[in-house]
Amino acid sequence: MINNFHIYNTLTRKKEPFEALNPPKVGLYACGPTVYGDAHLGHARQAITFDILFRYLQHLGYKVRYVRNITDVGHLENDADEGEDKIQVKARLESLEPMEVVQHYMNRYHMNMDALNVLRPSIEPRASGHIIEQQELIVKIMDAGYAYEVNGSVYFDVNAYNETHPYGQLSGRKVEDLLSNTRALDGQSEKKSGLDFALWKKADPLHIMQWPSKWSDGYPGWHLECSAMSTKYLGEQFDIHGGGIDLLFPHHECEIAQNVAGYGKAAVRYWMHNNMITIGGQKMGRSFGNFITLDQLFEGDHALLEQAYGPMTIRFFILQAHYRSTLDFSNEALKASEKGLIRLLNAVATLDSIKTSDTSSVDVATLEERCSQAMEDDMNTAKLIGLLLGGVNIIHKLAEGKESIAEKELEKLKNIYFSWVYSVLGLEQPEESGKANEITGDLITMILNLRNDAKSSRDFETADRIRKELTNMGITVKDRKDGADWEIN
Ligand code: ZN
Repeated sequence: MINNFHIYNTLTRKKEPFEALNPPKVGLYACGPTVYGDAHLGHARQAITFDILFRYLQHLGYKVRYVRNITDVGHLENDADEGEDKIQVKARLESLEPMEVVQHYMNRYHMNMDALNVLRPSIEPRASGHIIEQQELIVKIMDAGYAYEVNGSVYFDVNAYNETHPYGQLSGRKVEDLLSNTRALDGQSEKKSGLDFALWKKADPLHIMQWPSKWSDGYPGWHLECSAMSTKYLGEQFDIHGGGIDLLFPHHECEIAQNVAGYGKAAVRYWMHNNMITIGGQKMGRSFGNFITLDQLFEGDHALLEQAYGPMTIRFFILQAHYRSTLDFSNEALKASEKGLIRLLNAVATLDSIKTSDTSSVDVATLEERCSQAMEDDMNTAKLIGLLLGGVNIIHKLAEGKESIAEKELEKLKNIYFSWVYSVLGLEQPEESGKANEITGDLITMILNLRNDAKSSRDFETADRIRKELTNMGITVKDRKDGADWEIN
């Protein structure tokens, strides 16, 4: 398939032309959430980034199998394979079954993502549903000599691996440097090196989630699920693997090592990482304790929020930055996004009312070309939105009859806006505001009918009062022979 799409590949640190392994099919894997709490802005950015990629690849004509996992076991409280499982902590605190915690937050995650118009992936596999696949991969890695068992737990041997394969390629780190920055192992540790990571952990008797294995009753290490499940659903090699930049090390570095050790080759052709959301310049995240959940944003229910922001405003705010740039949260930025979004969607809504002429005074072809180029350049949604907003003035002039457009050109213009705004950027008229507008309209009509009744019974005092109060609210009433028209200023 011919396309001009260039992706910045984190592995090679440069923009590369996108070539699918088996066109028209594309295999896309993105790391999903660990479901032990409500989704926040950072989750939204990651999900939206790969939702755009999913939509854009389809727009280019590919058939995409998009796999996004749910981590429901094995993610411990810190990256050194220590502490309790995050889901188990929540389950213990709230006296719930771990799978009750998982279901609860998974449902909420889906609700949030649906509100943001993030398409559901093709497959959403859960770690707990793929224990056998993960055990099979451990056996392969051990057979290849890159893992060892201690007291029923199995660890990946980073030093042994690094002798034959460079470890740290994705993150640009060297084992020697990593070692000097890693806390020395105390005498208690089962690991040979602080860089080694768990493939299987023996469960202590109080651990709620455990499965039998040839090593012990236990559970898989967090990094393992993505290697096992991406291979199962996308094959030993596939096109694109995505995730937040916070997952780059150690999670994705470990994934590469597991695949190379177990299957003899690296799985991923293009690694894509979205950048973080910051808040006053600080990273936002659960581990930093400064996050704002999506529900809090939708409801305006957080000390930092001056108002509520609708899901489409959040989506637009995220897309107004390129996915590899950091994006700083502020009320000012969100309010500006809200205005920009309304301006764009209103313009798109007026496209259908534009009248055509025999000739065109506007240049649609250049806009069309530049929009495509923006997305081809490593999915630059920021630039695309800038171009689409730039075209809003043209749409206004066309609607007012100040510029002219031929039928064919108008079709092209509609196609640009409908396909980029709705299909690829996934923006839509917020339903609740549509509903609210409808109710407002009905209420004003009802009040004007009451005013008419007052006039009919010669109660001019009431009729004037209604008119005055509506004017104070910013609603202009124009009397006509057969009733009244109104307008919100
Ligand atoms: Zn992952």
